[in-house]
Amino acid sequence: MLEIKNSLPRPPIVVVMGHVDHGKTTLLDYIRQTKKITFIDTPGHEAFSKMRGRGAQVADLAILVVAADEGVKPQTKEALIHIQGAELPFVVAINKIDKPDVNLEKIKNELMTAGVLLEGYGGNISWQALSAKTGQGVSELLDLILLAAEMENLEYNPQAPAQGVIIEAQLDNRRGIIASAIVKNGILRTGDNIATPSASGKIKSLENFLGKRVDYLEPSAPALISGFNVLPQIGEEFFTGETAIGLVETFSAVAGKLPAVQAKTDVEKTKVILKADNAGALEVLSDVIKNIPSSKPIEILEQGIGRINENDFKLAVNTQALIVGFRVNLDKTAENLNKISPVKIIVSDIIYELVEKTEEYLVSLEKPFPSGELEILAVFGAPEKNKQVIGGRIMSGLIKNQQKFEVWRGSQSFTQGRILNLQEQKKNVPEAAVDKEVGLLIEADDIIKVGDILKIFNF
Ligand code: GDP
Repeated sequence: MLEIKNSLPRPPIVVVMGHVDHGKTTLLDYIRQTKKITFIDTPGHEAFSKMRGRGAQVADLAILVVAADEGVKPQTKEALIHIQGAELPFVVAINKIDKPDVNLEKIKNELMTAGVLLEGYGGNISWQALSAKTGQGVSELLDLILLAAEMENLEYNPQAPAQGVIIEAQLDNRRGIIASAIVKNGILRTGDNIATPSASGKIKSLENFLGKRVDYLEPSAPALISGFNVLPQIGEEFFTGETAIGLVETFSAVAGKLPAVQAKTDVEKTKVILKADNAGALEVLSDVIKNIPSSKPIEILEQGIGRINENDFKLAVNTQALIVGFRVNLDKTAENLNKISPVKIIVSDIIYELVEKTEEYLVSLEKPFPSGELEILAVFGAPEKNKQVIGGRIMSGLIKNQQKFEVWRGSQSFTQGRILNLQEQKKNVPEAAVDKEVGLLIEADDIIKVGDILKIFNF
Protein backbone atom coordinates (compact mmCIF):
# COMPACT_ATOMS: atom_id res chain seq x y z
CA MET A 1 0.00 0.00 0.00
CA LEU A 2 1.22 3.47 -0.77
CA GLU A 3 2.17 5.29 2.39
CA ILE A 4 0.96 8.89 2.54
CA LYS A 5 3.56 10.90 4.35
CA ASN A 6 2.71 14.16 6.06
CA SER A 7 6.25 15.16 6.84
CA LEU A 8 9.06 15.43 4.31
CA PRO A 9 12.42 17.21 4.47
CA ARG A 10 12.75 20.51 2.61
CA PRO A 11 15.83 22.51 1.51
CA PRO A 12 16.89 25.53 3.55
CA ILE A 13 15.93 29.05 2.49
CA VAL A 14 18.95 31.28 2.94
CA VAL A 15 19.14 35.05 2.92
CA VAL A 16 22.42 36.83 2.16
CA MET A 17 23.07 40.02 4.10
CA GLY A 18 25.90 42.45 4.76
CA HIS A 19 27.37 45.84 3.96
CA VAL A 20 27.08 47.25 0.45
CA ASP A 21 29.89 46.16 -1.89
CA HIS A 22 31.07 43.40 0.40
CA GLY A 23 30.21 40.86 -2.31
CA LYS A 24 26.67 39.59 -1.68
CA THR A 25 25.69 39.66 -5.36
CA THR A 26 28.94 38.14 -6.51
CA LEU A 27 28.54 35.33 -4.01
CA LEU A 28 24.92 34.76 -5.02
CA ASP A 29 25.85 34.65 -8.69
CA TYR A 30 28.52 32.10 -7.91
CA ILE A 31 26.29 29.74 -5.95
CA ARG A 32 22.82 30.32 -7.32
CA GLN A 33 22.81 27.10 -9.29
CA THR A 34 22.92 25.03 -6.09
CA LYS A 35 19.75 22.94 -6.05
CA LYS A 36 19.99 21.87 -2.43
CA ILE A 37 19.63 25.42 -1.13
CA THR A 38 17.23 28.25 -1.99
CA PHE A 39 18.89 31.65 -1.87
CA ILE A 40 16.93 34.85 -1.74
CA ASP A 41 17.93 38.40 -2.45
CA THR A 42 16.20 40.68 -0.06
CA PRO A 43 15.63 43.96 -1.87
CA GLY A 44 17.24 45.67 1.13
CA HIS A 45 17.15 45.37 4.86
CA GLU A 46 14.07 47.52 5.04
CA ALA A 47 12.00 44.98 3.13
CA PHE A 48 13.43 42.23 5.26
CA SER A 49 12.39 43.86 8.51
CA LYS A 50 8.97 44.54 7.02
CA MET A 51 8.48 40.83 6.54
CA ARG A 52 9.43 40.32 10.12
CA GLY A 53 7.04 43.09 11.18
CA ARG A 54 4.24 41.19 9.48
CA GLY A 55 5.17 38.06 11.35
CA ALA A 56 6.30 36.20 8.28
CA GLN A 57 9.63 34.52 8.49
CA VAL A 58 10.84 33.66 5.06
CA ALA A 59 14.43 32.62 5.66
CA ASP A 60 15.61 29.66 7.69
CA LEU A 61 19.21 30.77 7.78
CA ALA A 62 21.34 33.80 6.95
CA ILE A 63 24.81 34.36 5.56
CA LEU A 64 26.49 37.47 6.89
CA VAL A 65 28.99 38.64 4.28
CA VAL A 66 31.93 40.71 5.54
CA ALA A 67 34.64 41.86 3.13
CA ALA A 68 38.10 41.06 4.46
CA ASP A 69 39.55 44.30 3.14
CA GLU A 70 36.99 46.46 4.96
CA GLY A 71 35.77 44.55 7.97
CA VAL A 72 32.68 45.31 10.03
CA LYS A 73 30.81 48.33 8.67
CA PRO A 74 27.51 50.07 9.63
CA GLN A 75 25.36 47.84 7.43
CA THR A 76 27.10 44.76 8.80
CA LYS A 77 25.85 45.81 12.21
CA GLU A 78 22.41 46.62 10.81
CA ALA A 79 22.25 43.16 9.24
CA LEU A 80 23.20 41.65 12.57
CA ILE A 81 20.35 43.48 14.27
CA HIS A 82 17.92 42.01 11.74
CA ILE A 83 19.40 38.55 11.99
CA GLN A 84 19.33 38.57 15.78
CA GLY A 85 15.87 40.18 15.85
CA ALA A 86 14.54 37.37 13.67
CA GLU A 87 16.47 34.82 15.73
CA LEU A 88 17.90 33.46 12.51
CA PRO A 89 20.75 30.98 12.70
CA PHE A 90 23.59 32.32 10.59
CA VAL A 91 27.10 31.70 9.28
CA VAL A 92 29.72 34.31 8.49
CA ALA A 93 31.38 34.54 5.08
CA ILE A 94 34.61 36.52 5.24
CA ASN A 95 34.85 37.47 1.57
CA LYS A 96 37.53 38.87 -0.77
CA ILE A 97 40.42 36.95 0.79
CA ASP A 98 42.07 36.93 -2.65
CA LYS A 99 42.87 40.61 -2.08
CA PRO A 100 46.41 41.47 -0.99
CA ASP A 101 47.18 42.43 2.61
CA VAL A 102 44.12 40.80 4.07
CA ASN A 103 44.30 40.50 7.85
CA LEU A 104 41.86 37.78 8.91
CA GLU A 105 42.62 38.12 12.61
CA LYS A 106 41.64 41.78 12.52
CA ILE A 107 38.29 40.97 10.87
CA LYS A 108 37.58 38.20 13.35
CA ASN A 109 38.34 40.57 16.23
CA GLU A 110 35.97 43.15 14.78
CA LEU A 111 33.26 40.50 14.48
CA MET A 112 33.79 39.38 18.07
CA THR A 113 33.58 43.03 19.19
CA ALA A 114 30.29 43.32 17.28
CA GLY A 115 28.98 40.40 19.29
CA VAL A 116 29.52 37.62 16.74
CA LEU A 117 31.03 34.87 18.83
CA LEU A 118 32.95 32.83 16.30
CA GLU A 119 33.66 29.14 16.44
CA GLY A 120 37.20 28.48 17.59
CA TYR A 121 37.14 31.69 19.61
CA GLY A 122 34.83 30.59 22.39
CA GLY A 123 31.61 30.93 20.40
CA ASN A 124 29.52 28.75 18.12
CA ILE A 125 29.00 30.87 14.99
CA SER A 126 30.53 29.10 11.99
CA TRP A 127 32.59 31.13 9.59
CA GLN A 128 34.40 30.62 6.33
CA ALA A 129 37.08 32.71 4.66
CA LEU A 130 36.43 32.77 0.93
CA SER A 131 36.59 34.59 -2.37
CA ALA A 132 33.33 34.99 -4.24
CA LYS A 133 35.48 36.03 -7.17
CA THR A 134 37.75 32.99 -7.49
CA GLY A 135 35.41 30.54 -5.75
CA GLN A 136 38.01 29.62 -3.12
CA GLY A 137 36.23 28.49 0.06
CA VAL A 138 32.73 28.70 -1.43
CA SER A 139 31.98 24.97 -1.36
CA GLU A 140 33.10 24.89 2.29
CA LEU A 141 30.61 27.67 2.99
CA LEU A 142 27.83 25.65 1.33
CA ASP A 143 28.76 22.67 3.52
CA LEU A 144 28.47 24.87 6.61
CA ILE A 145 25.03 25.99 5.48
CA LEU A 146 23.83 22.45 4.87
CA LEU A 147 25.15 21.45 8.27
CA ALA A 148 23.37 24.35 9.96
CA ALA A 149 20.19 23.47 8.04
CA GLU A 150 20.36 19.87 9.23
CA MET A 151 20.27 21.08 12.81
CA GLU A 152 17.08 23.00 12.05
CA ASN A 153 15.20 19.87 10.98
CA LEU A 154 13.37 21.58 8.13
CA GLU A 155 10.20 19.78 7.08
CA TYR A 156 6.93 20.31 5.26
CA ASN A 157 3.57 18.62 4.99
CA PRO A 158 2.71 17.69 1.38
CA GLN A 159 -0.95 17.19 2.38
CA ALA A 160 -1.38 20.68 3.80
CA PRO A 161 -2.72 23.66 1.82
CA ALA A 162 0.21 25.57 0.40
CA GLN A 163 1.55 28.43 2.44
CA GLY A 164 4.46 30.81 1.92
CA VAL A 165 5.64 34.38 1.81
CA ILE A 166 5.32 37.10 -0.83
CA ILE A 167 8.76 38.53 -1.63
CA GLU A 168 7.89 40.95 -4.40
CA ALA A 169 4.91 41.93 -6.54
CA GLN A 170 4.60 43.94 -9.66
CA LEU A 171 2.35 44.75 -12.53
CA ASP A 172 3.49 43.29 -15.81
CA ASN A 173 2.11 44.97 -18.93
CA ARG A 174 1.42 41.67 -20.62
CA ARG A 175 0.72 39.22 -17.84
CA GLY A 176 -0.98 41.34 -15.19
CA ILE A 177 0.03 40.98 -11.55
CA ILE A 178 3.07 38.81 -10.97
CA ALA A 179 4.06 37.94 -7.42
CA SER A 180 7.32 36.32 -6.53
CA ALA A 181 7.03 34.16 -3.49
CA ILE A 182 8.65 31.36 -1.57
CA VAL A 183 6.70 28.20 -0.79
CA LYS A 184 7.13 27.09 2.82
CA ASN A 185 4.54 24.34 3.27
CA GLY A 186 2.19 22.20 1.21
CA ILE A 187 2.37 22.02 -2.56
CA LEU A 188 1.49 25.04 -4.69
CA ARG A 189 -0.49 24.17 -7.82
CA THR A 190 -1.87 26.05 -10.80
CA GLY A 191 -5.64 26.44 -10.49
CA ASP A 192 -5.42 26.84 -6.69
CA ASN A 193 -7.33 29.64 -4.98
CA ILE A 194 -4.74 31.87 -3.36
CA ALA A 195 -5.04 34.70 -0.85
CA THR A 196 -3.02 36.99 1.39
CA PRO A 197 -4.59 39.34 3.95
CA SER A 198 -4.75 42.06 1.29
CA ALA A 199 -5.16 40.25 -2.04
CA SER A 200 -6.68 37.15 -3.56
CA GLY A 201 -7.09 35.32 -6.84
CA LYS A 202 -6.70 32.02 -8.61
CA ILE A 203 -3.30 30.82 -9.80
CA LYS A 204 -3.22 31.12 -13.59
CA SER A 205 0.40 30.11 -14.04
CA LEU A 206 3.46 29.21 -12.03
CA GLU A 207 7.11 29.62 -12.95
CA ASN A 208 10.09 28.14 -11.17
CA PHE A 209 13.39 29.89 -10.39
CA LEU A 210 14.61 29.27 -13.93
CA GLY A 211 11.58 31.08 -15.36
CA LYS A 212 10.16 27.78 -16.63
CA ARG A 213 6.42 27.12 -16.47
CA VAL A 214 5.52 24.37 -14.04
CA ASP A 215 2.27 22.82 -12.76
CA TYR A 216 3.31 22.65 -9.14
CA LEU A 217 6.08 23.73 -6.75
CA GLU A 218 7.26 22.21 -3.50
CA PRO A 219 8.84 23.94 -0.52
CA SER A 220 11.33 25.78 -0.40
CA ALA A 221 11.04 26.74 -4.04
CA PRO A 222 10.86 30.32 -5.22
CA ALA A 223 7.75 30.82 -7.37
CA LEU A 224 6.47 33.40 -9.80
CA ILE A 225 2.71 33.44 -9.41
CA SER A 226 0.27 35.05 -11.79
CA GLY A 227 -3.44 35.29 -11.00
CA PHE A 228 -3.77 37.74 -8.13
CA ASN A 229 -6.58 40.26 -8.66
CA VAL A 230 -4.80 43.04 -6.78
CA LEU A 231 -1.17 43.47 -5.75
CA PRO A 232 -0.35 41.52 -2.59
CA GLN A 233 1.91 43.27 -0.08
CA ILE A 234 5.53 42.34 0.41
CA GLY A 235 6.19 40.12 3.36
CA GLU A 236 2.60 38.89 3.59
CA GLU A 237 1.89 35.24 4.02
CA PHE A 238 -0.14 33.54 1.31
CA PHE A 239 -2.42 30.53 1.61
CA THR A 240 -4.21 28.31 -0.88
CA GLY A 241 -7.28 26.09 -0.81
CA GLU A 242 -9.85 26.31 2.01
CA THR A 243 -7.57 28.59 4.03
CA ALA A 244 -7.49 31.05 1.16
CA ILE A 245 -11.26 31.11 0.81
CA GLY A 246 -11.64 31.56 4.57
CA LEU A 247 -9.17 34.42 4.52
CA VAL A 248 -11.04 36.25 1.77
CA GLU A 249 -14.35 35.87 3.64
CA THR A 250 -12.88 37.07 6.93
CA PHE A 251 -11.36 40.13 5.37
CA SER A 252 -14.41 41.16 3.40
CA ALA A 253 -16.51 40.77 6.56
CA VAL A 254 -14.12 42.98 8.52
CA ALA A 255 -13.93 45.51 5.72
CA GLY A 256 -17.74 45.76 5.61
CA LYS A 257 -17.85 46.75 9.27
CA LEU A 258 -15.27 49.51 9.03
CA PRO A 259 -16.74 52.99 9.43
CA ALA A 260 -16.47 55.23 6.40
CA VAL A 261 -13.44 57.47 6.61
CA GLN A 262 -14.37 61.12 7.05
CA ALA A 263 -12.49 63.46 4.78
CA LYS A 264 -10.79 66.14 6.82
CA THR A 265 -10.59 69.49 5.17
CA ASP A 266 -9.76 71.68 8.14
CA VAL A 267 -6.00 71.01 8.22
CA GLU A 268 -3.86 72.19 5.37
CA LYS A 269 -1.73 69.33 4.08
CA THR A 270 1.08 68.75 1.65
CA LYS A 271 -0.36 66.34 -0.88
CA VAL A 272 1.88 63.80 -2.54
CA ILE A 273 1.44 61.18 -5.26
CA LEU A 274 3.95 58.32 -5.20
CA LYS A 275 5.08 56.08 -8.05
CA ALA A 276 7.71 53.33 -8.10
CA ASP A 277 8.78 50.48 -10.32
CA ASN A 278 7.68 47.69 -8.00
CA ALA A 279 5.80 47.04 -4.79
CA GLY A 280 8.94 46.81 -2.65
CA ALA A 281 10.25 50.12 -3.88
CA LEU A 282 6.83 51.69 -3.40
CA GLU A 283 6.64 50.61 0.23
CA VAL A 284 10.10 51.95 0.96
CA LEU A 285 9.25 55.21 -0.80
CA SER A 286 5.99 55.60 1.07
CA ASP A 287 7.73 54.96 4.40
CA VAL A 288 10.46 57.52 3.86
CA ILE A 289 8.19 60.21 2.43
CA LYS A 290 5.70 59.85 5.30
CA ASN A 291 8.53 60.34 7.76
CA ILE A 292 9.94 63.55 6.29
CA PRO A 293 9.61 66.23 8.95
CA SER A 294 7.32 68.98 7.71
CA SER A 295 5.33 71.78 9.29
CA LYS A 296 2.23 70.62 7.40
CA PRO A 297 1.19 66.97 7.57
CA ILE A 298 2.09 64.99 4.45
CA GLU A 299 -0.87 63.29 2.85
CA ILE A 300 -0.26 60.53 0.32
CA LEU A 301 -3.15 60.96 -2.09
CA GLU A 302 -2.34 58.00 -4.21
CA GLN A 303 0.46 55.53 -4.78
CA GLY A 304 1.02 53.13 -7.60
CA ILE A 305 3.41 51.07 -9.64
CA GLY A 306 4.64 52.06 -13.06
CA ARG A 307 5.60 55.23 -14.88
CA ILE A 308 4.10 58.59 -14.03
CA ASN A 309 1.07 58.79 -16.34
CA GLU A 310 -1.77 61.03 -17.40
CA ASN A 311 -3.95 60.10 -14.40
CA ASP A 312 -1.20 60.93 -11.90
CA PHE A 313 -0.63 64.16 -13.72
CA LYS A 314 -4.29 65.19 -13.74
CA LEU A 315 -4.68 64.34 -10.08
CA ALA A 316 -1.62 66.47 -9.30
CA VAL A 317 -3.02 69.42 -11.25
CA ASN A 318 -6.43 69.18 -9.59
CA THR A 319 -5.09 68.84 -6.07
CA GLN A 320 -1.81 70.78 -6.40
CA ALA A 321 0.01 67.67 -5.31
CA LEU A 322 3.69 66.88 -5.64
CA ILE A 323 4.58 63.72 -7.60
CA VAL A 324 7.52 61.64 -6.35
CA GLY A 325 8.83 58.81 -8.53
CA PHE A 326 11.33 56.19 -7.39
CA ARG A 327 13.06 54.41 -10.28
CA VAL A 328 10.34 55.57 -12.70
CA ASN A 329 10.03 58.32 -15.27
CA LEU A 330 7.18 60.10 -16.99
CA ASP A 331 5.42 58.36 -19.84
CA LYS A 332 5.05 60.25 -23.14
CA THR A 333 1.61 61.69 -22.36
CA ALA A 334 2.65 62.91 -18.93
CA GLU A 335 5.82 64.37 -20.43
CA ASN A 336 3.79 66.35 -22.97
CA LEU A 337 1.27 67.50 -20.37
CA ASN A 338 4.12 68.64 -18.17
CA LYS A 339 5.31 70.93 -20.95
CA ILE A 340 1.89 72.59 -21.11
CA SER A 341 1.14 72.99 -17.42
CA PRO A 342 4.04 71.95 -15.25
CA VAL A 343 3.47 70.28 -11.89
CA LYS A 344 6.18 69.62 -9.35
CA ILE A 345 7.69 66.21 -10.11
CA ILE A 346 10.70 64.73 -8.30
CA VAL A 347 12.20 61.54 -9.72
CA SER A 348 15.37 59.66 -8.87
CA ASP A 349 16.77 56.13 -8.69
CA ILE A 350 18.33 56.88 -5.33
CA ILE A 351 16.09 56.95 -2.31
CA TYR A 352 18.07 59.45 -0.25
CA GLU A 353 18.15 61.83 -3.20
CA LEU A 354 14.34 61.73 -3.32
CA VAL A 355 14.18 62.47 0.38
CA GLU A 356 16.65 65.34 0.04
CA LYS A 357 14.86 66.90 -2.94
CA THR A 358 11.45 66.49 -1.32
CA GLU A 359 12.74 68.12 1.86
CA GLU A 360 14.17 71.01 -0.17
CA TYR A 361 10.86 71.41 -1.94
CA LEU A 362 8.89 71.41 1.31
CA VAL A 363 11.21 74.04 2.76
CA SER A 364 10.74 76.17 -0.35
CA LEU A 365 6.94 75.92 0.06
CA GLU A 366 7.15 77.24 3.58
CA LYS A 367 8.97 80.33 2.45
CA PRO A 368 7.06 83.24 0.95
CA PHE A 369 7.76 83.66 -2.72
CA PRO A 370 10.78 85.93 -3.28
CA SER A 371 10.11 89.15 -5.16
CA GLY A 372 13.50 88.82 -6.82
CA GLU A 373 16.32 86.30 -7.15
CA LEU A 374 19.87 86.87 -8.31
CA GLU A 375 22.41 84.22 -9.19
CA ILE A 376 26.00 85.19 -8.32
CA LEU A 377 28.24 84.73 -11.36
CA ALA A 378 31.34 86.61 -10.21
CA VAL A 379 32.98 87.94 -7.09
CA PHE A 380 35.43 90.84 -7.53
CA GLY A 381 38.42 91.31 -5.28
CA ALA A 382 38.65 90.28 -1.67
CA PRO A 383 35.88 91.19 0.77
CA GLU A 384 36.59 94.35 2.73
CA LYS A 385 35.22 94.16 6.25
CA ASN A 386 31.73 92.92 5.47
CA LYS A 387 31.49 94.48 2.03
CA GLN A 388 31.85 92.67 -1.31
CA VAL A 389 31.57 93.57 -4.98
CA ILE A 390 29.69 90.92 -6.90
CA GLY A 391 28.15 90.36 -10.31
CA GLY A 392 25.16 88.26 -11.26
CA ARG A 393 22.10 87.64 -13.33
CA ILE A 394 18.54 88.23 -12.17
CA MET A 395 16.76 84.89 -12.28
CA SER A 396 13.30 86.13 -11.38
CA GLY A 397 11.40 89.25 -10.39
CA LEU A 398 12.98 92.58 -9.65
CA ILE A 399 15.93 93.77 -7.61
CA LYS A 400 16.10 97.26 -6.12
CA ASN A 401 18.95 99.24 -4.69
CA GLN A 402 19.11 99.26 -0.86
CA GLN A 403 16.97 96.12 -0.57
CA LYS A 404 17.73 93.50 2.07
CA PHE A 405 18.34 89.92 0.93
CA GLU A 406 18.93 86.39 2.11
CA VAL A 407 21.84 84.39 0.72
CA TRP A 408 21.08 80.79 -0.24
CA ARG A 409 23.64 78.07 -0.85
CA GLY A 410 22.01 74.86 -2.06
CA SER A 411 18.81 74.42 -0.11
CA GLN A 412 19.92 76.52 2.86
CA SER A 413 19.68 80.19 3.60
CA PHE A 414 22.97 80.87 5.40
CA THR A 415 23.28 84.61 5.80
CA GLN A 416 21.65 87.99 5.19
CA GLY A 417 22.71 91.33 3.79
CA ARG A 418 21.79 94.55 2.00
CA ILE A 419 22.43 96.07 -1.43
CA LEU A 420 24.50 99.28 -1.08
CA ASN A 421 24.85 100.01 -4.77
CA LEU A 422 23.28 98.55 -7.92
CA GLN A 423 24.69 98.95 -11.44
CA GLU A 424 23.60 97.86 -14.88
CA GLN A 425 26.21 98.19 -17.63
CA LYS A 426 28.39 100.09 -15.16
CA LYS A 427 25.73 102.74 -14.52
CA ASN A 428 23.96 103.25 -11.22
CA VAL A 429 20.33 102.18 -11.46
CA PRO A 430 17.50 102.19 -8.88
CA GLU A 431 16.31 98.74 -9.97
CA ALA A 432 16.84 95.95 -12.51
CA ALA A 433 14.54 93.21 -13.79
CA VAL A 434 14.67 89.54 -14.74
CA ASP A 435 17.41 88.37 -17.15
CA LYS A 436 19.53 91.50 -16.62
CA GLU A 437 23.16 91.22 -15.60
CA VAL A 438 24.05 93.53 -12.76
CA GLY A 439 26.97 94.54 -10.59
CA LEU A 440 26.43 95.13 -6.89
CA LEU A 441 28.18 96.42 -3.84
CA ILE A 442 26.72 94.58 -0.92
CA GLU A 443 27.22 94.18 2.76
CA ALA A 444 26.60 90.79 4.33
CA ASP A 445 27.45 88.94 7.51
CA ASP A 446 29.30 86.15 5.68
CA ILE A 447 31.38 85.80 2.53
CA ILE A 448 29.37 85.22 -0.62
CA LYS A 449 30.63 82.87 -3.34
CA VAL A 450 29.94 82.24 -7.02
CA GLY A 451 26.86 80.02 -7.30
CA ASP A 452 25.09 81.49 -4.27
CA ILE A 453 21.61 82.93 -4.77
CA LEU A 454 20.41 86.24 -3.33
CA LYS A 455 16.69 86.16 -2.57
CA ILE A 456 14.67 89.23 -1.79
CA PHE A 457 11.58 88.98 0.36
CA ASN A 458 9.52 92.17 0.65
CA PHE A 459 8.07 91.50 4.05
P1 GDP B 1 27.19 43.71 -2.90
O1 GDP B 1 26.90 45.17 -2.88
O2 GDP B 1 27.43 43.20 -1.50
O3 GDP B 1 26.20 42.87 -3.64
O4 GDP B 1 28.63 43.53 -3.60
P2 GDP B 1 28.99 43.03 -5.07
O5 GDP B 1 28.80 41.56 -5.20
O6 GDP B 1 28.32 43.90 -6.05
O7 GDP B 1 30.57 43.28 -5.06
C1 GDP B 1 31.13 44.57 -4.94
C2 GDP B 1 32.47 44.60 -5.65
O8 GDP B 1 33.39 43.71 -5.00
C3 GDP B 1 32.39 44.15 -7.10
O9 GDP B 1 33.26 44.97 -7.82
C4 GDP B 1 32.90 42.71 -7.06
O10 GDP B 1 33.51 42.34 -8.27
C5 GDP B 1 33.91 42.78 -5.94
N1 GDP B 1 34.05 41.49 -5.26
C6 GDP B 1 33.06 40.70 -4.77
N2 GDP B 1 33.58 39.59 -4.22
C7 GDP B 1 34.92 39.67 -4.38
C8 GDP B 1 36.02 38.82 -4.00
O11 GDP B 1 35.89 37.75 -3.42
N3 GDP B 1 37.27 39.27 -4.32
C9 GDP B 1 37.49 40.44 -4.94
N4 GDP B 1 38.74 40.80 -5.22
N5 GDP B 1 36.49 41.26 -5.32
C10 GDP B 1 35.21 40.88 -5.02
